[in-house]
Amino acid sequence: MSIRVHQLAKELGVTSKELIEKLHGLKVEVKGHMSSLDDDTAVLVKEELDGAKPAEEKKKPKTKKTAAAKVKADTVPEPEEEKKAEDDGLKLLKIDLPVTVKDLAVKLQAKPNELIKKLLSRKILVTINQSLNEEAAGSIAKDFGYKIEQLPTQEEELIAGYEEKEDPAKLVPRAPIVTFMGHVDHGKTSLLDMIRKTKVVDKEAGGITQHIGAYEVSLPKGKVTFLDTPGHAAFTAMRARGANVTDIVVLVVAADDGVMPQTIEAIDHARAAEVPIVVAINKIDKKNINIDKLKKQLAELNLMSEDWGGKTIAARVSAKTGEGIDELLELLLLEAEMLELRANPDQPASGAVVEAELSKGKGSIATVLVSKGTLKIGDIVIIGLNYGRIKAMFDDKGRRVQEAGPSKPVEILGLSGVPLAGEKFYTVSDEKKVREIIAMRRLKAEKKKLENQVQKITLEGLYDRIKEGEVKELKIILKADVQGSLEAIKDSLEKLSTQDVKLSVIHYQVGNINESDVMLASASNTIILGFHVSMTPDGKALSKQEGVDIRIYNIIYEAVDDVKAAMEGMLEPIIEEVFLGRADVRQVFKVSKVGIVAGCYISKGLIPRNATCKLIRDNEVVFKGKISSLKHLKDDIKEAKEGYECGISLSYKDIKKGDIIEAIEVTKVARRLK
Ligand code: GDP
Repeated sequence: MSIRVHQLAKELGVTSKELIEKLHGLKVEVKGHMSSLDDDTAVLVKEELDGAKPAEEKKKPKTKKTAAAKVKADTVPEPEEEKKAEDDGLKLLKIDLPVTVKDLAVKLQAKPNELIKKLLSRKILVTINQSLNEEAAGSIAKDFGYKIEQLPTQEEELIAGYEEKEDPAKLVPRAPIVTFMGHVDHGKTSLLDMIRKTKVVDKEAGGITQHIGAYEVSLPKGKVTFLDTPGHAAFTAMRARGANVTDIVVLVVAADDGVMPQTIEAIDHARAAEVPIVVAINKIDKKNINIDKLKKQLAELNLMSEDWGGKTIAARVSAKTGEGIDELLELLLLEAEMLELRANPDQPASGAVVEAELSKGKGSIATVLVSKGTLKIGDIVIIGLNYGRIKAMFDDKGRRVQEAGPSKPVEILGLSGVPLAGEKFYTVSDEKKVREIIAMRRLKAEKKKLENQVQKITLEGLYDRIKEGEVKELKIILKADVQGSLEAIKDSLEKLSTQDVKLSVIHYQVGNINESDVMLASASNTIILGFHVSMTPDGKALSKQEGVDIRIYNIIYEAVDDVKAAMEGMLEPIIEEVFLGRADVRQVFKVSKVGIVAGCYISKGLIPRNATCKLIRDNEVVFKGKISSLKHLKDDIKEAKEGYECGISLSYKDIKKGDIIEAIEVTKVARRLK
């Protein structure tokens, strides 16, 4: 006989989570609320809880090792106490980070040289004017008896002024927010539709449901909120903008198809976001399916189902017949209970945008999910670079509502513009302050645009960031043409981990580098290494926009060597010029308002409008810079192809007949160690 953790918890009148903690205290290793306990263990736990003995670690009895309960080694340190000691002895120092060595020295009333020496002993080599991040500065400050804390930015101060302190007594359970992910055609949309049709339909409103990007399902035991944009692309795009709204990912796998490439992608995306996964084995109505085979595949991906002794909850469902859907919903509620999802409804609201659009007549409409507090008509909200007073709110059935509490999806009207999915919102009380915050954010956004390339992790910048203690883990996404290479590179890369930096491959798969890889890289700040693969056009465009470092190799050891060199600071970029096209200058005109125009014939390749070019005369480069205009007759054109004529202007005026204009692409290439 055995009993599930959640059943025993119910019997004992405690939550599953409390029981699991208790079991861990007893050194009984259970994986989750669906794990089974054998009778011996159950009796022991019951005694323990009834006896209500003080929680003294040393006196606790050890259970014998049974099938369901493994005894864990008794070596776990107690981090809590260590933290207290640290808090006690240290004085608090609030500073603006990053801080230069010089400024930190002043604050610590120490000599800069002393600091530099101490940093050196930690293998951090800096000069007096270099900046230290929180970690490095914090570790030095500790030597001088201080604990540092980042001063709030002006914006944070403004926002903090409106947000109340979290009061644990006011927290109440909230509905889990669930996203469906999985391979195409495995039934994500069908499941969402089936759930909506059978569970959301409002009988009074005549069965009409509204598509607003998310919907809520009410069950006897609680509510579940579903995000209506299935798939990991949307999920990760939201995360890249800062909103990790999903509490649980339901991984949909079709029983007749099994694990497919996008199943693996979805798993990696969910794991990178640290969101728990519940598996829905779909299409169980079909004939000739082999669920055991599927479970084996899942186990190989570290998603061992609980009936096989793992901790992954796997529900069997059919979006066609509706079978198993109620069980799936219940499991989601159980999982939510485990996650202890709570929020205080009694405070100014904040949350995130799920989707938004501009509607004719209504203006900007945004579907938002409240994460805490209660959103009310008349509230002033700030979302990214937009704000507004809420004029009206609608729920997922298209009904007008006056307010929306935690996890409730609503459509809001009244914003100044259309926000982006994934942007966070706050309610604020003072419209003037809102404008100040927006102005500040605009400035910051501009600055960030400029810094975008610098902030993202790149192989070239890696060493400096390791040195400054900024990077402790280099995350990599790996794509290759065949499975064998993937495994080989992954192993070699992970072996490069040192004491200072850990290398981890967070996603690896056979195939070209696509948009979804780039989005994951951007959201998780990783680099992408490709081996014998190319990039999809969408992926390429997105990588430029997001500033993700992507490198493609043809030889395994070159990839591994580059990463190694980057970690050791031996990888300086070299500038490489790629020839794009050549234009022969046949005539030079002076055109009023435009200035000097070179009438050219494209003798080779292509001249793009925004290319960099070299003006060559007698085999010497006399000018190098951007093209300022490219025309065909009187029209501006995007590019001029081989065999065509065009007019080119440069910021350089001294162009002569017989000159050559060469268009080039300038790229930074990693220097290779030989
Ligand atoms: P998505 O790409 O993951 O959103 O998949 P869809 O929901 O569009 O489903 C793909 C196809 O599988 C459609 O033709 C559905 O009708 C079918 N399908 C989805 N769920 C089931 C199911 O449980 N049983 C059967 N027999 N077919 C299903």
